[in-house]
Amino acid sequence: MLTLENVAVFYGQVPAIHDVNAAFEAGTVNFVVGPNGAGKSTLLLAIAGAVRARNGVVILDGKHISGLNSEDIVALGCSLVPEGRQVFARLTVAENLQIGLIAGRTKGAGRGDLEQVLSHFPILRSRYRQLAGTLSGGEQQQLSIARALLTRPKLMLIDEPSLGLAPLVVDGVYEVLARLRDEGLTMIVVEQQTTRVKKIGDTVTVLRDGNVSFFRSTSEIVDYGELEKAYFGFNN
Ligand code: ATP
Repeated sequence: MLTLENVAVFYGQVPAIHDVNAAFEAGTVNFVVGPNGAGKSTLLLAIAGAVRARNGVVILDGKHISGLNSEDIVALGCSLVPEGRQVFARLTVAENLQIGLIAGRTKGAGRGDLEQVLSHFPILRSRYRQLAGTLSGGEQQQLSIARALLTRPKLMLIDEPSLGLAPLVVDGVYEVLARLRDEGLTMIVVEQQTTRVKKIGDTVTVLRDGNVSFFRSTSEIVDYGELEKAYFGFNN
C-alpha cells in the first residue's frame, strides 16, 4: 500500500531523515519507534506532504505522492493524526469534525460518516457542542483521530497517540485503534516506547538518527530483546 524509497528530509542543511526505505501492506498496523529526535515525526510529515522530501519517493497504492500538497494527499486517502493532537481549540467538537468531513473531499460524505465515527467515540457525542480546547487530553486525542477518520482514509498516520496521557487513557485510545484495525484500516503509528508493539502491531520499524535500523514483522520476533537492542543502538 505504501512504499518509501530513499526518502530524505532536511531542515536547512541538516538531515532529519535520510535513505529511508520501507514498505507497509494494506490492512496492517505498523509501528515506527525510536528515541527523541530520531526523525519519526518527520517521516510521517513527509508521507503526509506537510514537509517536502529532498530526495526519494513516496508511493501510495501505485501513485507517486511525494511532491503533492497535503490537502491532495488527504483526498487520496492518507490522513495524519498529528503529534500533540492539534485540534482547533476555539472551535466546537462538531466544527472540528466538520473540518475532517470537508478535508476528505469525498462525495456524499456527511451525516452517515459522522454517525459511524461517533459510534467509536461516545464521549465526543456527549461533548458535541463543547469547545475542543476545553476537552481533556484523552478526549482531544479521540477528537483528532475522529477528525482524521472523517476524511475516509485508507491509510492513517498517527503520531505519538500516547503522548502526555495517563496509562488508562492510553489503553482507551489503543482499544479504538484495535477496533479500527479489525475493520481493516491500515495504520502507521509512531511511538517513543515499544510497549504497544506486541499487542496490536503487525510490523515494527526502529528509526535511529534518521535512518531505519531495524524492521521486522512482529510474527517473526521471537525475542523482544532484539527490538530493545536495536532501539538502544546495541545491534551493531
Ligand atoms: P520526538 O520523539 O522527540 O518527537 P522524532 O523522532 O519525532 O522526535 P523529529 O521531530 O522528526 O524526531 O526530529 C528529527 C530531527 O529534526 C531532530 O533533530 C529535530 O531537532 C529536527 N527538527 C524537527 N523539526 C524541525 C524543524 N522544524 N526545524 C529544524 N529542525 C527540526
